[in-house]
Order: sequence, then structure tokens, then C-alpha cells
Amino acid sequence: MRVPRRRLRLARYKKHRRQIHQRFRQHLFALDRLCAHTSGPLPKVVVLTGAGISAESGIRTFRASDGLWEEHHLEDVATPEGFARDPQRVQDFYNERRRQLQQPEIQPNPAHFALAKLEAALGENFLLITQNIDDLHERAGNHNIIHMHGELLKVRCCDSGQVLNWTGDLTVDDRCYCCQFPAALRPHVVWFGEMPLQMGDIYQALSEADYFVAIGTSGHVYPAAGFVQEAASRGVKTVELNLEPSQTESEFNEKHYGPASEVVPAWVDGLLQKIAYPA
Ligand SMILES: [Zn+2]
Repeated sequence: MRVPRRRLRLARYKKHRRQIHQRFRQHLFALDRLCAHTSGPLPKVVVLTGAGISAESGIRTFRASDGLWEEHHLEDVATPEGFARDPQRVQDFYNERRRQLQQPEIQPNPAHFALAKLEAALGENFLLITQNIDDLHERAGNHNIIHMHGELLKVRCCDSGQVLNWTGDLTVDDRCYCCQFPAALRPHVVWFGEMPLQMGDIYQALSEADYFVAIGTSGHVYPAAGFVQEAASRGVKTVELNLEPSQTESEFNEKHYGPASEVVPAWVDGLLQKIAYPA
């Protein structure tokens, strides 16, 4: 009875093959469902913003042709030597900036809100590095922010370096009481000749990023102007969003020019689409 035995073996083989196919299909189905929930691994995005993003919110920039450096000597108001020479002049300069920032007409614009939306989507994978000392990113809803040049609404103890929130004017007579002897306070702003803040964290983030996006920066001020080379040398995809090509324009893989309030929301929406529906 050779034939029935062979048929039996064939039937067993076919059944086994069906089971394997079924299990494979179930496995694929489960993977699909998992992917639908996590949308795959999220890219790591590091964004650098400069004066260009805040200009549309009415914040006066330093470098434009009608900028603050046209009216003030930066050696007088933005260097440690200037502060040592005439602290009141320096306090007055930043008091004026601090008052202006808190005027009701100064509000975040669509570019700020687009970055808040991007952080909401990417969570821990998003880092915002800003050269701006205003708080418009915070007001728009961003949390993961490095203010590499300091913050206008904070002051610092000249002795201990302790940082305090400060919304009013600061005078040469104001004192910090954190130390044994009351100490003078200065704006929590990085001046020319001083080291920008959290540089170690910044270079670490640049080395791990999938995207480096520079928004509204002129590319004149180092070390920020060197971030694009640093990112590019590590194979990070680099994007420039600016009103016009910056000094370091040629270093970027991708570039879009126009007002920040238009090009930033458009780029963010494009990236979110790409994440939700990968090609
Ligand atoms: Zn102190």
C-alpha cells in the first residue's frame, strides 16, 4: 500500500505548510499593528534658532541695518569690560530690552508655534538651541530648550553664578542674597568674549541627531555658525530655513528661503507627514 502512504505524507506536508504560512501572516499582521502605533523610530531633530525667527514678532535684532548695534557700541553694552567700566549703562540697555519683551504686542509667531508642534510630536527626540535671549519659544510651548546666549528675563549673581528670574528693571544697587555677603547682579546674558552656555550638551546632541535645522541665523556668530559643519561631518542631514541665504548657506543639504512664519510651518508639516507616512 505505497500510494496511500505517500498521499498521507503529502497531505501532512501541505497542512504543515499552511500552518507556517498562517503563522507568518499573523506575525506580519502583528508587526503592522505595532508600526501603526509607534510609526517606527522617531528622528532626532536639533533646531538652532537666531534673531530671524523673533524679528517677525517685533523684537529688534542686533545686526540688521536698523539693528541695535547701529545705536549702541557693543563694546560698551555687551562685554565684561563694558560692564566693569559703566554697569549702569549696561543695566539700562538690558532694562530697555526686558521692558520691550514684555509689551503686549510682542507675541510668538507661527514659526515659534510650529516648533512647539514639532516638539509635541517628537518629545525627547527634539532639542531647541536658541541664540535668542527672549522667551518667545517658551511662550509658544517649547520645553526642551538651551538658551546658549542666556535669557533676558533672568539675572545672575556676580559672585556665585546663581540664576534668578527677573522681570523688572535691574539697578546697580540690586543685590543677590544667596551668598554670605550681598553681591551685585548682572543680566544673565552671554557677552562677547564669554563662553556660550551648555556647549557640551549642544555638541553631544549634534553628534546624535538625524536632522540639524538652522532657522533665522545669519551664520556670522561663532560658535553657532560652526554647528552646521559639525553636524555635516557626522552625516547629519542639514536644513537651512532663512529669509535669505546665510553666510554658511553652502554647507546645508536642504534650504528654503522666505519669512520664518511661512517656511518654518511648511517644513515642520512636511517632516511630520514624512514621519507619519514613510515612503
Ligand atoms: Zn549671590
